[in-house]
Amino acid sequence: MKGITILGSTGSIGVSTLDVISQHPDEFELIALTANKDVANLRRQCLRYRPRYAVMADANSAGILRRYLGVELPEISVLAGIEGLEEVAVANETDYVMAAIVGAAGLMPTLAAAKAGKRVLLANKEALVMSGKIFMDAVKEHGAVLLPIDSEHNAIYQCMPADYRDGLSRAGVSRILLTASGGPFRDYPLDRLPEVTPDEACAHPNWNMGRKISVDSATMMNKGLEVIEACWLFDTGPDRIQVVLHPQSIIHSLVEYVDGSVLAQLGNPDMRTPIAHALAWPGRMASGVKPLDLFQIARLDFTEPDLDRFPCLRLAFAAVETGGTATAVLNAANEVAVEAFLQGQIRFTDIPVVVESALDGVPPSPAEALDSILRADQQARIFAASVIGNLAA
Ligand code: NAD
Ligand code: MG
Repeated sequence: MKGITILGSTGSIGVSTLDVISQHPDEFELIALTANKDVANLRRQCLRYRPRYAVMADANSAGILRRYLGVELPEISVLAGIEGLEEVAVANETDYVMAAIVGAAGLMPTLAAAKAGKRVLLANKEALVMSGKIFMDAVKEHGAVLLPIDSEHNAIYQCMPADYRDGLSRAGVSRILLTASGGPFRDYPLDRLPEVTPDEACAHPNWNMGRKISVDSATMMNKGLEVIEACWLFDTGPDRIQVVLHPQSIIHSLVEYVDGSVLAQLGNPDMRTPIAHALAWPGRMASGVKPLDLFQIARLDFTEPDLDRFPCLRLAFAAVETGGTATAVLNAANEVAVEAFLQGQIRFTDIPVVVESALDGVPPSPAEALDSILRADQQARIFAASVIGNLAA
């Protein structure tokens, strides 16, 4: 039995993880479930899955959950705050940590899991975007096992040679081809983009995801964050990464070798495949995903992304070229801008404006220490909020 803690269990990835685990009850024991403020959902999950711990990041919400579970399931310990998240991430009973909190909030508990030498199933790409070097160093130093859950990175991982960590060139890898669906606005009239609503932006054609990553997919900032994520995971520069628009989302990414071979991983767009891969690795186990029907798919298309339509992708490439804290600034400004868009405060096309202003306004510094990264994150949030204030006025 492996003990598993799910950080962000009430979210889209969290729910898919619970689905896969419940198909293999003899192999996994749930140690902890966590959420931010969603008491009703975490309570329901606790009643159904009976973890040892339940954590609410928000202290008030933890108090409410504790009152319910104190009567219903007193054997579950209810913890609160970032301390509670870190406690369950490093607990002795925890072997595997699914890092599925959205945004910068996931960084500290995910880093704690890496430092405790856990198997980290990484969905929270923002942790690598903010502090890739610190995170990858912690994984190496503490013997953690890092397995990517992001479908593209999981695909790349599956197509990589066993010795890729010795350097991509030595392993014969020439390029990483990162696929992207292009989201709901791939072919949308450009002049109507300023008017799109949050619900339209969240209506992804192929994937059903949380609202923040859905908006990121619509702006293609998600692909930008994934380029940065791939640079850290596979120890490469952005020059070796080609983004490929592939509207069907069947090929989840490809690895090109010097001999002309290109390996791809295909499957139906369902996050339970990468989740099951990372849970069972180096073995395989069933995920509940239906088999791929190539005859029904019939064709696969590929085009180059248009950086005028998707300025966020250009900004992400620029930030990774700048290096240091620039990617943390990109990430933080984007989080604030996406939230403002979801709240109806700014237009969809204002998102890249806010991010670009923050990249121009917050000077980059080396990203060697967590303090400087967290400071840059805070500065970018303040800067982005003031830009949003001006745009909304
Ligand atoms: P979601 O919004 O559906 O769920 C987020 C989870 O994090 C929830 O359980 C929520 O309670 C928790 N959370 C939110 N804010 C928090 C905070 N401040 N403190 C503690 N917990 C908090 O998001 P999602 O779509 O499941 O995405 C989760 C992560 O996985 C993101 O980083 C996303 O980029 C990545 N990811 C998601 C998908 C997908 O298909 N959904 C695919 C690839 C990568
Ligand atoms: Mg992805």
